[in-house]
Amino acid sequence: MNAASPPVTVPQADPGASYRAQKAQIDAAIARALDSGWYILGKECAAFETEFATWQGAARAVGVANGTDALALILRGLGIGPGAAVATVSHTAVATVAAIEMVGATAVLIDIDPATYTMDPAELATVLASPPPGLPPIRAVVPVHIYGQPASVAEIIAIASRHGAVVIEDCSQSHGALVGGRKCGTLGIAAAFSLYPTKNLGALGDGGVLSTDDEALADRIAALRQYGWRERYVSDMAGVNSRLDEVQAAALRVKLTALDAVTARRQAIAAAYDAALAGGPLSAPARQRGTSHVFHQYVLRCGDRASVQAFLRARGIATNVHYPVPVHAQGAYRGRIALGPAMCRETEVAAGQVLSLPMFPELTDGQVEAVCAALRQLPGA
Ligand SMILES: *Cc1c(COP(=O)(O)O)cnc(C)c1O
Repeated sequence: MNAASPPVTVPQADPGASYRAQKAQIDAAIARALDSGWYILGKECAAFETEFATWQGAARAVGVANGTDALALILRGLGIGPGAAVATVSHTAVATVAAIEMVGATAVLIDIDPATYTMDPAELATVLASPPPGLPPIRAVVPVHIYGQPASVAEIIAIASRHGAVVIEDCSQSHGALVGGRKCGTLGIAAAFSLYPTKNLGALGDGGVLSTDDEALADRIAALRQYGWRERYVSDMAGVNSRLDEVQAAALRVKLTALDAVTARRQAIAAAYDAALAGGPLSAPARQRGTSHVFHQYVLRCGDRASVQAFLRARGIATNVHYPVPVHAQGAYRGRIALGPAMCRETEVAAGQVLSLPMFPELTDGQVEAVCAALRQLPGA
């Protein structure tokens, strides 16, 4: 930022604020975990898994080290690895694609619906019916509920099941979103959640959890996350080390009690932004019918992103871009990753235009009003 920019008065994200909002309870929970003398896969993790599964409306939850591992362990638990392809989107955190490659599977990337930024079911149907030449069989589809808005998951499941592929939901940005009154993540065979500090449910470090109604799958993954142990020191299958530690689980149990209120606050902030944008040059984010949006991010589409960003920054308002470079265009993947026939054109357009406004539940009413006032003054408004 140039020297003339005023200090940031409205940050884009602030994970410390969510700790401070429940500091006394979190500190007590952490002290309890520390005093217990048991630091890995103990009572706190077991209790968090039960409480998260109940909140999610799933039979089981398994705590793991991070969201990337949650997705990779679901794939491993389903026996998806080398010799299989997995369809997902390029408009996502690189972690989604990294998890697919971690298990040795091949990713194929589907373009997005430009209104919701989520997987385009029509292109998925095309790719499943006639996959790119040389691609291994597509055994799984991973829709990403990007920014907190559910993808067209029922439609995606119907399409995938016609081709014998399972659907695994990447819920890393959509904790608590609803699809037809059900929790997002309960429609597919399993769902992966990141608990990274800035996520809607965030730990105080790394964490992840997955949910499923398939008891056998949950048991397999619970073993896989700890060296494939069936009993202590004896592995039945080749596993990994991806455990959620007791200190994180203790803090997450406190934060889970606030999650519904936190979601309502995100939605109220989004409604205020919607109202401030009405009649102006930029549109509020589109809402998918029959779903609720939990606003992990509130994302505008700007023809001239740099000037909108500078306009807000000049008023002390920070923004961010999620994500500036589609996965298929990043150096690690460029030229070697399979794409659907749309060649991710809408993904590329979106990457050049998306802009994330400040969005976290502890934004004060004054900060929200400052953003709204700036939105009402956007040039052209
Ligand atoms: C954050 C995120 C992940 C990865 O989570 P980590 O906990 O950082 O491993 C995966 N997918 C999406 C869509 C995410 O936003």
